[in-house]
Amino acid sequence: MSFLVVEGLVAGYGEARVLHGVDLSVAEGEICAILGPNGAGKTTLLRALSGMVRARGVIRLGGTALTGRPPDAVARLGVAHVPEGRGTFMPLTVEENLRLGAFVRRRGREVEDDLDRVCTYFPPLRDRLGQVAGSLSGGEQQMLALGRALMLRPRVLLLDEPSLGLAPLVTRELFRIVQAINQEERTTVVVVEQNAHLALGVARQAHVLETGRIVLSGTAERIRADEQVAQSYLGYR
Ligand code: ATP
Repeated sequence: MSFLVVEGLVAGYGEARVLHGVDLSVAEGEICAILGPNGAGKTTLLRALSGMVRARGVIRLGGTALTGRPPDAVARLGVAHVPEGRGTFMPLTVEENLRLGAFVRRRGREVEDDLDRVCTYFPPLRDRLGQVAGSLSGGEQQMLALGRALMLRPRVLLLDEPSLGLAPLVTRELFRIVQAINQEERTTVVVVEQNAHLALGVARQAHVLETGRIVLSGTAERIRADEQVAQSYLGYR
């Protein structure tokens, strides 16, 4: 059963069109990877899904139309976007950043419980709640960005290049936590990732985006077995 449905999605910046009719669907509770070369439009696709760039076409989440809604409305409907570069507020503390993630919810017991839950996924954050975000390592900042997104209690997590600039060990740990979140919270995840090995290791379905169009879709095993994908993204054959 498709949960997130995208049909004929067209988006870009001013006159420059980047997405030329993207179709994809993601089942509820699934991790879906978006692969593709630089400039293919992967970031633009995530921005279109979260309402950050204007788009035409169909975006539906659990039957609710998202196209044309502003980012805060999309967030209220349960879509949390962790942008490339993370988007944490460096002068604010870890705790302040996390609380900002709960902006659509009323304060109170629920938010306090979620703070605790996020710190359970990301123990280094618990030790650094009073520290400014700018003082964190790259890996901790990515944890903070993810943690802030979780504070929304999202139905869908959009992750843009979570491994960017991180050491392999840190990246693997992050992906392990993303998998745990996916399994324990049943959160649907759409992850854009340059590291195709990693992405295909956690995803059930994957889509390859090239010059604004999906050119290949299938299970992670099928995508991994594709000769061209192997050559272009996995570095063998
Ligand atoms: P990368 O892996 O390099 O981030 P990508 O697949 O995520 O690539 P996008 O970042 O979506 O690709 O960019 C697609 C195209 O849109 C590129 O040609 C880029 O120059 C252009 N673009 C991206 N952001 C903007 C912007 N804010 N204004 C104008 N053009 C943009």
